[in-house]
Amino acid sequence: MENTIPLSVYRKQVDLLYQRVPASLMTSVIISVCFLFFLRTFPEPHVLQVWVAYMMALVVLRAFVFFLYRKSKKRDFRQTRLAERIFLAGVVLSGLGWGSVAWWLYPLATEQSTQVIFFVVVVGVAAAAIPTLSYRRLHIQIFVCLTILPMLIGLYNSYGNQNLILAFIAVVYTAFIIKSGCIFQEHHEEMLVLKEASQVREKQLKVATKEAKSANRAKSRFLANMSHEIRTPMNAIIGRTRLALDETSSPELQAHLETIQNASENLLSLINDILDFSKIEAGELKISNKPFDLFDTLRSLLNTVRFLADDEKGLNVTLEIADDVPRAVVGDSMRLRQILLNLVNNAIKFTETGCVDVRVACLKAKEKTVLIQFSVSDTGIGIALDNQEAIFNEFVQEDDSTTKVFGGTGLGLAICKHLCDLMGGQIAVSSIPGKGSTFTLSSSFLCCNFSELPDIFPQVDHKPMSSDSLNILLVEDNEANRVLAGMVLAKAGHTLVEACNGIDALNCLVGQSYDVVLMDVQMPIMDGLKCTRIIRAAELGDELAGVDKELADKLSVQLRGCHTLIVAMTANAMSGDREDCLDSGMDEYITKPFYLDDLNRVFSVFVEGKGEIS
Ligand code: ADP
Repeated sequence: MENTIPLSVYRKQVDLLYQRVPASLMTSVIISVCFLFFLRTFPEPHVLQVWVAYMMALVVLRAFVFFLYRKSKKRDFRQTRLAERIFLAGVVLSGLGWGSVAWWLYPLATEQSTQVIFFVVVVGVAAAAIPTLSYRRLHIQIFVCLTILPMLIGLYNSYGNQNLILAFIAVVYTAFIIKSGCIFQEHHEEMLVLKEASQVREKQLKVATKEAKSANRAKSRFLANMSHEIRTPMNAIIGRTRLALDETSSPELQAHLETIQNASENLLSLINDILDFSKIEAGELKISNKPFDLFDTLRSLLNTVRFLADDEKGLNVTLEIADDVPRAVVGDSMRLRQILLNLVNNAIKFTETGCVDVRVACLKAKEKTVLIQFSVSDTGIGIALDNQEAIFNEFVQEDDSTTKVFGGTGLGLAICKHLCDLMGGQIAVSSIPGKGSTFTLSSSFLCCNFSELPDIFPQVDHKPMSSDSLNILLVEDNEANRVLAGMVLAKAGHTLVEACNGIDALNCLVGQSYDVVLMDVQMPIMDGLKCTRIIRAAELGDELAGVDKELADKLSVQLRGCHTLIVAMTANAMSGDREDCLDSGMDEYITKPFYLDDLNRVFSVFVEGKGEIS
């Protein structure tokens, strides 16, 4: 093993030998001084003085070597071996010094107590060498032999062969210490080798983790781009299908179009799920903690799903909020809404008749923290006990027939579970097959004052107007989407000016004001985020970077002191995109494919100041 140990382990062993040098030098000095002080009656004091002088000279020499070693930094194998050999020379000289106590001083002592002192010192020094010299086997072996075995000569010289027992003990003791030293060395070396291996593995693991993280980031980027690319044509497909559905009176064509529309919407929700899931996997999904109106969040959610349940199945969806549930809380309203929406959508999907009830209750309240439980109960098909845990795993559905009958991917609940974990909450289900299911989500929220709630309808400084006919600037690079948006908006009675990128939009804003700017995000030449920042800077009278001076001057004159309503209309659906848009200064965010309802909702909130978000 000695020959095959890695250089770093060998280096560490030699390092440890040197590290212990100060302690052994101190021992030498203390014992030497004690000898001089306590053994003043020693019959031949000059011999004792010579011995002490030898030990002191050795201390100085070894201290010098120690400092030289400490000074040298990186040592290769050759230098390490040289350092070890020099150390070994010191060990030999030191061993001879201690050994001479036994064969040289011991026989000269006339008092038995002095002999006992010499005996104890020699034996003690040999034993103390185990933890200081055992890092290299040869060192402990040589030192112990040189220290103890000369005692046999001493014993022989002082008592002749009468003291055989003492000599026998000395031999056995030598063997014992050498064996202990060897065991110590073996174990310590093994530990160093393992430590070295684990350090190598740790380094490999760090590299692998870094690689995995960057691969994950690349995957997220790829997914974000793919999402944009897929959503852009989907926008056109879904939008045109809606228009065609409105215009056709043929039942057969209507059935075809509805199928296209359903399939497209399913595809879109699948894309959203996969995007969310990949973000969660990449650890990039962050939970925000902001004050929000819990009641508003719940009511808006129910408004959205009621329409679906009523229209399609005639199900009654109810919302019951207990009196002690606080309205203003701190948390991530978007993620809470996403979880509950998934649970309620599932409840509607798996229930043919009966009702879906959403109940909100306060389980615990302590100081400013409340534990709130949201439960979604249905009277649907239910879930067998065996499957109730598994359905929270990704891509798991109750059984194979579920996909055939109800569609879906089995990702929704897995996402809910992950989101719930990120929120520090818990999600569970209890269900009786054939009778219905109840999903419960419990999570803690901090209560806040009503005044801390953000103004979701910012008081922007633009003139009140009717949303019946708005003057809209549509900034969109994709022609199909421009045409579609044009058709939808014109049909709703709005007038439209089109721009293909941010610079185009800025030029359109010179000399004319618009009620709303519908702004795409990803565009060539200048993207929507940058364009929005420039508009906001112009409104504040700040310097405009990134546009030529003439345009900047005109924009400043036109926009200073106003607030242009800018709504992001983008195919970027990754979480965090909304925050990016709002951070750049946009007022609202809708994802493509957009529905006229979404636009009307925004118009009614921002333009007419109605507070009803559905
Ligand atoms: P998906 O609905 O897309 O299949 P989910 O992860 O949301 O994915 O649900 C996983 C499975 O759990 C569903 O396929 C279904 O078998 C079961 N499930 C979820 N909610 C209900 C419910 N309310 N009633 C009956 N089964 C449900």
